[in-house]
Amino acid sequence: MKEEKLKIALQKAGRLSEDSIGLLKKCGISFNDGFGKLRTEALNFPLEIFFLRDDDIPEYVADGVADAGIVGENIVAETCKQVNTVEKLGFGRCRLSIAVPKNFAYDSVESLNGLRIATTYPRILSDFLRRNEVKAEIHVISGSVEIAPSIGLADAICDLVSSGSTLLTNGLREVETVMYSEAVLITQQNLGSAQKEILEKLLFRIRAVKAASENKYILLNVPNDKIERVCQLIPGMKSPTIMPLAESGWSSIHSVIHKDDFWEVVEKLKQEGAQGILVISIDQMIR
Ligand code: ATP
Ligand code: ZN
Repeated sequence: MKEEKLKIALQKAGRLSEDSIGLLKKCGISFNDGFGKLRTEALNFPLEIFFLRDDDIPEYVADGVADAGIVGENIVAETCKQVNTVEKLGFGRCRLSIAVPKNFAYDSVESLNGLRIATTYPRILSDFLRRNEVKAEIHVISGSVEIAPSIGLADAICDLVSSGSTLLTNGLREVETVMYSEAVLITQQNLGSAQKEILEKLLFRIRAVKAASENKYILLNVPNDKIERVCQLIPGMKSPTIMPLAESGWSSIHSVIHKDDFWEVVEKLKQEGAQGILVISIDQMIR
């Protein structure tokens, strides 16, 4: 009998490709992602991988040609296909924003009334304009949206932004955020039972990798009279590990800390007299 596989679609070449491939590899899945490949099979996990244009991924998944896909929420929202979003993946973060020329007198969303706005996201933009009761003309273009105002094609744009430097170099100013986006794992709505099982295994690994990337392992030495206070600062997964040092009166404490709290907590730990603080990246974390 043919081995059942989960078919997953990744972006072929673009901003999500490296992180999508990297995520599967961190999940311990090995495959050949040689340049120009359109399809490959994982060597040690029941996964068949397709490499596609990101815009096509929701449709392939909705039609069941692929069972799952990794794509930006912006594409899921714009293509409006019937798919399930099962997990946010924490990369490919950006926002879809409206920007106007630097010297445009912008007060509020009402300033957009009567403007021509260039975008590759007409559906999301028209929803936004409708919600805000703005009447503007949407010009759909397929790329290089940011130059539309300077060549007289539009008065404003609605495009993806991450740092904002592209807007700045094109003399544009961001005035409204239409949506925030990151890469997500989507699945088709009629997964077979074997595919559901494989998806669960994959999700278990993805969550372990995600948790690991959001946390750090921390080790430090403290005088024994500070143990209680330090344990409050770094409570860890269940509770910290405490081990006596060879030097009496001192202990080593090991714990896990969220990366966003890291600097603030380290400052407090130092104030409590912690020494020899080591911080180590975690590969996988299973709660
Ligand atoms: P394709 O050839 O696959 O259609 P593309 O040119 O449409 O690729 P990319 O520019 O590679 O798409 O972007 C892919 C996704 O990366 C976007 O849809 C978005 O979810 C995410 N992304 C993150 N940051 C940015 C950014 N600053 N600009 C554009 N996309 C971004
Ligand atoms: Zn695209």
